[in-house]
Amino acid sequence: HVRELKGLRGEPACTLDGTRIQLLANIELPEDLRLFRKTGGDGIGLYRTEFLYMNRPDFPDEEEQYRSYLEILAQADGMPVTIRTLDLGADKRLIGRETGPDDGHNPALGLRGIRYSLSEPGIFLKQLRALLRASADAPLRIMLPLVATTQEVLQAQQMIEVAKQSLDARGQDYDPAIPVGAMIEVPSAALTAHQIARHVDFLSIGTNDLIQYTLAIDRVDDHVNYLYDPVHPSVLKLISTTLQAGRRAGIPVSMCGEMAGDPQYTRLLLGLGLRDFSMHPSTLLEVKRVITRTDLKELGGRTRGFLRNTDPDRAPDLLRRLNALH
Ligand code: PEP
Ligand code: MG
Repeated sequence: HVRELKGLRGEPACTLDGTRIQLLANIELPEDLRLFRKTGGDGIGLYRTEFLYMNRPDFPDEEEQYRSYLEILAQADGMPVTIRTLDLGADKRLIGRETGPDDGHNPALGLRGIRYSLSEPGIFLKQLRALLRASADAPLRIMLPLVATTQEVLQAQQMIEVAKQSLDARGQDYDPAIPVGAMIEVPSAALTAHQIARHVDFLSIGTNDLIQYTLAIDRVDDHVNYLYDPVHPSVLKLISTTLQAGRRAGIPVSMCGEMAGDPQYTRLLLGLGLRDFSMHPSTLLEVKRVITRTDLKELGGRTRGFLRNTDPDRAPDLLRRLNALH
């Protein structure tokens, strides 16, 4: 099995019927980049920028961020890199510091993700200017975390315009057509993905949070994690709605939550129409293995059965049967 996986390193992720699937990497810490270079992949689908802000007394300035983003782009060697703007709050806390979001009574529902960035324009603009400058000579995409409404996307787009204007005034280069995308990880965003899609260049489904908010279970609370169910009919409905919205708007939709890196869900996601998967590099070859053994033409009926099912207890059996094909 290990040898088979190693053999897949240089191979494209293609299904048996010849459909090319994009496999991208999630990077949380700089050392994940080394693993990504070893396993290969089509680019970076989620670069989490929080680590730059954590475990230090102050926030990084524009220059430091710019240099850090340039380094990531250099490591990616011309492949596309999606960098997510700051996603602080809730499970991503700054311990022992004055700056950063207040935990509040219910941090998962509080000032986190894009809400925090929009409430701190100075911090947000600094990061946007650094990202824009890094986009001058390499394919970089900006991704907005925890979007709940179209309004937030419009506000963020305005901030990106402001950041571009300051670079124009300074005479600094950037990619004027830099793609901007929204993460779909809140049920309200999934249900209105068709509207959000009109204002962005791509969508990316963050299942870790989407499952948390759909089923109302804290993703880091051990007392309730037995309820965490990626194939709950309600979750699959939201994933399917988002994929459909992307197809109708003609923009790509990727998935960067852990579900995308779990090989037991690969066929189901392919059947639902997902073509861009982003995951921790350690799971990339396992997922590629399933892809190379799957014929998309055979998935249709069973995936529709999955979507029609309203009984969460039947899901494991449906999954087993889908994965047993061939
Ligand atoms: C997610 O929520 O699925 C996601 C990819 O973001 P994070 O895990 O960083 O919240
Ligand atoms: Mg998230």
